[in-house]
Amino acid sequence: MVELTEYHHDPIVCRACGTQLDSVSDPYGTTNRPTTGAFTLCIVCGEVSVFEVAEDGTVTMREPNFVELEIFNREGKALIKAFMASRLKRGR
Ligand SMILES: [Zn+2]
Repeated sequence: MVELTEYHHDPIVCRACGTQLDSVSDPYGTTNRPTTGAFTLCIVCGEVSVFEVAEDGTVTMREPNFVELEIFNREGKALIKAFMASRLKRGR
């Protein structure tokens, strides 16, 4: 079973609900930090966003474009299942 990895970053405001998000969890355990173009879900409202990481390491989130939403529609269910499975394993 893959371990859930977490990465803490400067607060980013969810564009949908306004929650300040300051960490991300990778349900696949493949990376310990956000990467440009990776999908992310707000832990409070579930809004889908895409990470952008600047050369200086600053992490931001933006609205997915049409092509990215099509990809998420195909792959998102597996991402959500992996996330929920990893949280259950940790008891959170
Ligand atoms: Zn939100």
